[in-house]
Amino acid sequence: MAARILDGSKIASEIRAEVAAEAKALAASGVRAGLAVVLVGHDPASEIYVRGKVKSSAEVGLYSEQHTLAESATTGELLALVAELNRRDDIDGILVQLPLPSHVDTKKVLLAVDPSKDVDGFHPMNVGYLSTQRPGLVPCTPGGVMEILRRSQIPVSGAEAVIVGRSDIVGKPVAMLLLNQTATVTVCHSKTRQLPEVCRRADILVAAIGRAGLVTGDYVKPGATVIDVGINRVTDAKEFERLFAGNQKRRETFASKGSVLVGDVHPEVAEIAGAITPVPGGVGPLTIAMLMANTVKAAQLRRGIRQSELIRA
Ligand code: NAD
Repeated sequence: MAARILDGSKIASEIRAEVAAEAKALAASGVRAGLAVVLVGHDPASEIYVRGKVKSSAEVGLYSEQHTLAESATTGELLALVAELNRRDDIDGILVQLPLPSHVDTKKVLLAVDPSKDVDGFHPMNVGYLSTQRPGLVPCTPGGVMEILRRSQIPVSGAEAVIVGRSDIVGKPVAMLLLNQTATVTVCHSKTRQLPEVCRRADILVAAIGRAGLVTGDYVKPGATVIDVGINRVTDAKEFERLFAGNQKRRETFASKGSVLVGDVHPEVAEIAGAITPVPGGVGPLTIAMLMANTVKAAQLRRGIRQSELIRA
């Protein structure tokens, strides 16, 4: 039987509506929550992401501003900008769009962001808050994974959860969030032995690998919930056939655009899983929605305002 499709776009729009209501309530008490996005250079993908973040802020009623620095910007210039944004009371969230140019000391810049304004949740202070279950700012994509599970009534407590990928921005925080909600958590990565066998134990399988369709049907226990974080662009015709043979709609896209997007999970898994996130339209839309939620949360935390149910997670 085909899996239930977990509609990330729908969940993201629910969250955005809740954030808009929170932003309105803040505004009524005289607080305008504000997000500053810092972009260095003209990487086309980064420019698209930043535009999306600024546009989304306006839609939910948050103030936002964009700072674009030249590709040649130094670590010192970035540190000076971050220090200025840290000082400003009208800025609640600071997001430094990655990747930064290779001559910039990225770790130093991220460490300079005031943890109370770190809406990406990457600062070691927020990582520590997450692992010790204190209130803090949770990374957006992992937070989005948890919202998909919660809002789709997928039971987490006591579930066997297997995460493939151990990155600081996705795999590890997802593992910590699931552990905090008392799942039994296994984290796999490129050195894991017998990966399919370990994955088959999962009631909840999270793929955050960055390899098109690596998770095939033999990795999945029938009925499991599969969360596909991966976003991969397929341009190779043979690879397209491996993934989408028989899918006429995707074939048309591939023919007209020369590429299609696919997650880390092979489409055949939709016939085995109990519930699955699609790509596109699964985890992806949650990332910006959670950034909006984090900005409102940062504004509330910094002022000691009570947290709503949405952003307490
Ligand atoms: P990363 O490259 O930092 O980490 C990948 C992880 O996968 C590593 O821990 C590595 O050990 C593991 N891995 C690699 N090859 C493997 C293999 N053959 N078997 C088992 N494990 C393997 O990537 P990341 O930043 O965590 O991102 C992962 C994916 O999620 C990418 O496709 C990325 O584009 C996507 N992503 C999506 C969003 C979103 O908004 N939906 C956000 C962030 C990342």
